[in-house]
Amino acid sequence: MGERMYPAVVIDHSKLKENAGKVRELCGSRGIRVAGVIKGANGILSVVEDMVDSGIDMLASSRMEQLARVKDAGIKAELLMIRVPMLCEIQELVRVCDLSLNSEIRTLEAINEEALRQGKKHGVVLMADLGDLREGFFDPEDLKAAALHVENHLEGLVLRGIGTNLGCYGSVMPTEDKMEALASLAEEVQGLIGRPLEIVSGGATSSLMGVFDNYMPDTVNMLRIGAGILVGPLDETCTCYHYDQMKMLNDDCFTLEAQVIEVKKKASHPQGTLGVDAFGHKKTYVDRGMRTRALCAVGGADFGDPEDIIPIDPGVEVVGCSGDHLILDVEDAPEKPAVGDVIRFKTKYTALLRLTGSENVHIIDK
Ligand SMILES: *Cc1c(COP(=O)(O)O)cnc(C)c1O
Repeated sequence: MGERMYPAVVIDHSKLKENAGKVRELCGSRGIRVAGVIKGANGILSVVEDMVDSGIDMLASSRMEQLARVKDAGIKAELLMIRVPMLCEIQELVRVCDLSLNSEIRTLEAINEEALRQGKKHGVVLMADLGDLREGFFDPEDLKAAALHVENHLEGLVLRGIGTNLGCYGSVMPTEDKMEALASLAEEVQGLIGRPLEIVSGGATSSLMGVFDNYMPDTVNMLRIGAGILVGPLDETCTCYHYDQMKMLNDDCFTLEAQVIEVKKKASHPQGTLGVDAFGHKKTYVDRGMRTRALCAVGGADFGDPEDIIPIDPGVEVVGCSGDHLILDVEDAPEKPAVGDVIRFKTKYTALLRLTGSENVHIIDK
């Protein structure tokens, strides 16, 4: 085997399988099906396979390209499109996905026509906007009318359920009243169509709150989980607001490895007249005197915000980055790195999303 190339994201498949299995078991014990959301790791097939090996039987993404890759790889699971579909991707949606989240009659009619053309039945989950103000019917009456329309007039569609999304734009938490509102809306729809809904989808990783705190109504029977499985308890904002129970999950399924290209003792405050940095931002710098710095060949173009990567070794501190360089303070490291050494980082959700989508980053199986 040749030398490892950097920057690299190294995937620990046994830890990932453990996370997926634990989330599935926890939810399963409350009658909740888990759709494994793969977008946070760019739908990497080996990650998808870990989810499926752990017993997850529905895979979801906001990106059609990722779902198409899963479909074309012949992976056995239902495929759910979780970003309300564009009119320009309906043909691919019907070819690739078994079901999708929806909020527009116009789009539902286009999916219906395409499904009839392809001789398929496409599953529909109607989204209710319970106040987070991203996708979904804002007026419950509109959702009920759409449900009746799909049920009675759109032969190419199957109304499989309703759902909601919280904590994305509006930072609204999946509190008990929100879950109860979703459950009672589901019950109203069931009354209208005269049959039970297969899916009542109560949100994403943040909705694990309702499972941990035991307030999830029985009617809510599905969650769409990405961050919880992929990055575990690391990403405080995404994952349940410091819920202790998240600690049962691994936070190091993915590690970023970057190679050191320069090590030097330098001033910590820039010298000269200060304007703006590489991203056009005016910044302030703390003068800590002369410090040993390591420069790594990975940058904001790969991981986004330097706050979203966390050095694993003690004494290594992220100072900043430009598009293709990462600057570390290693003054306090017990062993100072040398050129050619590799520095390892845990990755928060957004960094993982970007790293796995960067063509400059090598994906390595541990
Ligand atoms: C991204 C997304 C999810 C998964 O969110 P996580 O916080 O990663 O669990 C679920 N539902 C929708 C609609 C999404 O866009």
